[in-house]
Amino acid sequence: MTPPVFRFAPSPNGYLHLGHALSALLNADMARAVGGRMLLRIEDIDASRCRPEYETAIYEDLKWLGLEWEQPVRRQSEHFDVYRDALAKLEAMGLLYPSFESRSEIAALVAARGADWPRDPDGAPLYPGAAKALTTAERERIIAAGAPYALRLDVAAAVTKTGPLSWTENGAAQPADPSAWGDVVLARKDTPASYHLAVTLDDAAQGVTDVVRGQDLFHATSVHRVLQILLGLPAPRYHHHRLILDADGRKLSKSTRSTALCELRAEGASPASIRKTVGLD
Ligand code: GLU
Repeated sequence: MTPPVFRFAPSPNGYLHLGHALSALLNADMARAVGGRMLLRIEDIDASRCRPEYETAIYEDLKWLGLEWEQPVRRQSEHFDVYRDALAKLEAMGLLYPSFESRSEIAALVAARGADWPRDPDGAPLYPGAAKALTTAERERIIAAGAPYALRLDVAAAVTKTGPLSWTENGAAQPADPSAWGDVVLARKDTPASYHLAVTLDDAAQGVTDVVRGQDLFHATSVHRVLQILLGLPAPRYHHHRLILDADGRKLSKSTRSTALCELRAEGASPASIRKTVGLD
């Protein structure tokens, strides 16, 4: 039997904090418990926010915690060709469309729709634009004029193709609800991918069998399941874990220095004390 494959997949856009420690340690613990493999993936598609010094800090912090992972480490920025290929497949299935609005145009459209305009599970308004209704000729004309565009999944058409979906959450079936996200962005204006597309393709490319990540990504799994079905990719098992919250009950953020692992280490914390702080052991 081939061993299960786990992965920790941080983005190098800030220093790792206690929430990342919980995630990384849980992955390693679960992998060890079943004789599985442990991978590290650097999710660095967002060139405007990712920095090499944060990537270096990720390696230092994880080594300090006592973690080990296989080499080579996969860096998403080196696999844009894989994401482009998948976009081409979805495009050929008629499931993508370009949208041209800027952030402020989208904000104005949402404001015009009123307070009842639906929001996605992360609290962001669903795409309010009309780009899906443009004709091919109109799209071609706007693109030829040099307008930047994102590529969105036509989620209504996608779910018509996939039918009802579910995923395995801690061994139990969990119904998926991709429509809750509206027409999600699969390729950003500046990058031939989005988080949803890259994470789904990479988990498949790396043969990941068990995705262990924070509860904040629970609902995102609905989008990942749609993409897996459309692109013929295997479905990993999912385990979304509790989040570490700050004193005000909010999810930790990379901009709060007080919970950064490098900061805690400088103040004399030990790997064992970090395990305790995040509620392991
Ligand atoms: N890169 C994502 C993050 O740092 C995690 C992605 C995942 O585990 O699916 O929040």
